[in-house]
Parts: sequence; structure tokens; C-alpha cells
Amino acid sequence: MKKSTAAINPPLPRRDPYGALAMPVYHCAAYEFADHQKMIESFTGVSDDPDYSRVTNPTVIHLEKIVRGLTGARDVVAFTSGMAAISATVMSIAAAGKKIVTSRHLFGNTYLLFTQTLRRFGVETELVDLTDLEAVRQAVDDNTCMLYLETVTNPQMEIADIRALAEIAHQKGAAVVADTTMIPFIYTDSKALGIDVEILSSTKYLSGGATSLGGLVVDYGTIKDFDYTLRKDLLMNLGGYMSAHAAYMQTLGLETLQARYEVHERNARAVAEALKDIDGVEVCWPGLEDNPYHDLARKQFGGRYSAMLTLTLPSEEACFRFIDALKLVRRATNLFDNKTLAIHPASTIFGTIDAATRAEMDVSDRLIRLSIGLEDPEDLIADLKAAIAESRK
Ligand SMILES: *Cc1c(COP(=O)(O)O)cnc(C)c1O
Repeated sequence: MKKSTAAINPPLPRRDPYGALAMPVYHCAAYEFADHQKMIESFTGVSDDPDYSRVTNPTVIHLEKIVRGLTGARDVVAFTSGMAAISATVMSIAAAGKKIVTSRHLFGNTYLLFTQTLRRFGVETELVDLTDLEAVRQAVDDNTCMLYLETVTNPQMEIADIRALAEIAHQKGAAVVADTTMIPFIYTDSKALGIDVEILSSTKYLSGGATSLGGLVVDYGTIKDFDYTLRKDLLMNLGGYMSAHAAYMQTLGLETLQARYEVHERNARAVAEALKDIDGVEVCWPGLEDNPYHDLARKQFGGRYSAMLTLTLPSEEACFRFIDALKLVRRATNLFDNKTLAIHPASTIFGTIDAATRAEMDVSDRLIRLSIGLEDPEDLIADLKAAIAESRK
């Protein structure tokens, strides 16, 4: 079965008494057992009957199983948000005294998780340029437990050579953990690229119209004991499991993922092409042939380029005038809503990070981030061009 078919027609785990077509939403905290033996079997992992919804819920398990089928992963665990999925994964692998190698080009909260939260627990993080393989080779040592990367960085849109990075990491026994939020997992063969654990914020492409928060950990089964530590230690002891309601909405979102994504990307291409030759506007989108990461993106992500793009304008003031002039495009954070969204990352998402750190992270004051939605591209282009004209005044 092709992925678009499999996403829409997953088998239900048990026949529903009413013949429901969709997996019901099990809004309950706990589950009843027929006798003490069944109870023991559930609590000790002999059976997979659910016991308590902090760690297992039929509606959430249904979503996890569909994603497992689509990715060929050993296990998939759903969390309340992308950050919960990232922190649980990182804390399953790292330990005090161990080192993580990653980039300065990271989602803001992931950057702070490494440089602030985990540092308090004695985990060392070295930030290197992941497009410089020699620098990565120098940084990954015998004490390194993990190489962490984002497949397309946000908002710099940098793309590293994942297979080459994985080779370096695996030579030293370090796990490769990748945040693949920017391009849906249905297009990328993450395991073949050498990714051991894939994480995504399902708040974005998957939720289907920004209906709910969520994060998925996709475990390819290549790290010893990872699945056990993630489910039996982090999930049980820290919490953070996805709610049944979010899982229901994201299961629906998954049904339309491919159909929506193709329109998102087609619109992103139309916008990038319409704006790229405007004087004083720099468009960054890996789908453009002259983008420095175009070939790498094409090879690694099945010819997909995401529906996020950035515009660099002549000044911060021009960016603010641009944002204020938008009439159709929404002034909001988030990515891959059905609606097109615009934000000035330096003053908002990165607004509490000092200017020097922001500069190190290459988050420019002159950058606008756009998440292209499903509107008619002509309407979008007209609004964006009008806002660019206003930004010059
Ligand atoms: C949004 C995002 C996250 C965090 O996900 P939440 O669901 O908001 O917690 C992590 N990584 C990337 C690349 C993101 O875009």
C-alpha cells in the first residue's frame, strides 16, 4: 500500500461495537480489569492492555501505530508537544558527564534546553557548524553520546549532509537524533540517512490546520535500550504523554497530510518565484535552484523543500513596516497552519535571547519568516507584494 492509502485506512486494533469508522476518543484516566491476573499482566508489561493514560491510551496508541507503519520504525511514542518529545529523547540518551554535539542553528527552545537546562544537570553541549565536517570530526569524541541536528534549520534554513554526519557520529558510537519537523516524515527515508531517532513537532504539518500540539519520537531501533528508557523511565517518571483528543485530531490530520503538503509546497514555490527578483528582497527557500542547499535537499528529502521560506529586507524597521502592512497573511508564530503566517523571529521567538547570542545563531534583525498556507497563491503574492511596497515607505 502507498503511504497516502495507508494513512487513511489503518486497521482498528479491535472491532468497534458500533462499527465506528474512526478510532474512538478514549477520554479516560484509567482502565478496568477482569481479574487480578489480567491486572498483573498489564502492569508488568506481559500484555499491552492499557492501565493508566499517563503512559498508554488506545487513541494515542492508534496514532503511534499508524506512524510506525508509515516509517518502518521499531517504536513511536507520542508526546504533548514537540519540546516534550525532544526533551524526553535527549534525556533518554544523555547523562551527566556526557557530551552532546549540535549546532547553533536550532529551534529557540531546543537551543535553550541544551545550553541552559541540561547544563544544570551536568550535560555538556558543544556547538559546531554542522556543514563543516572537519569541525564535526574534531568535536565528536569518545565521550559524545549524541549528535543532534535539525534537518532544515529554523529560521536559517541550513541543510547539513546527514549521511556524512551519521558516519562520523557512528564511528564514535554516538547516536544521531534529528528534528525533522520541517519536511513531513512520509517523504524522507530517515533510517537510510543514518538517523537513529527522529523527532517531530506534530503541531506543525501533522495536526492539520494547527488544531493541537504534539510531538512524536520515531525510534528506528538502532540504539540499545532506548525504547525501554524512553517509555519506562522518561515517559513514566516525567509524564508528557499526548492526550487522546490531540491524538484523534492528529490521526485525522495524518489522513490529509500528503494532500495538504503538496498544496503548501506548490504555494511556497509560487511565492518564492514571485518575490525572488524584487530589488532589496532576498528570498531563501531550498526549492530554488540557486539556493546553496538545493541539491542536498533534493537528494535527502525525496525532492521536497518545505513550505517555510524567509525574506531578508534592508533593515529591521522595514521588517516591522512589512509585518504591520499585511492584510491577508496572519501575524503569528507556528508553522504549516492552513493559513499563511508571518513573524519577525529576532524580536519575538528570539526576543529574550541577547543580541550577541542571536548574532551567533545567525538570527538576523532583517529576517522575516513565512509559513505558506493553502490560500490561493495569487492572493498571497498580492498581499506580500503590497506589504513589501509599504516596507519601503
Ligand atoms: C515548533 C518546533 C518545535 C517545538 O514543537 P512544539 O510542538 O511547539 O513544542 C521543535 N522543533 C522545530 C523545528 C519546530 O518548528
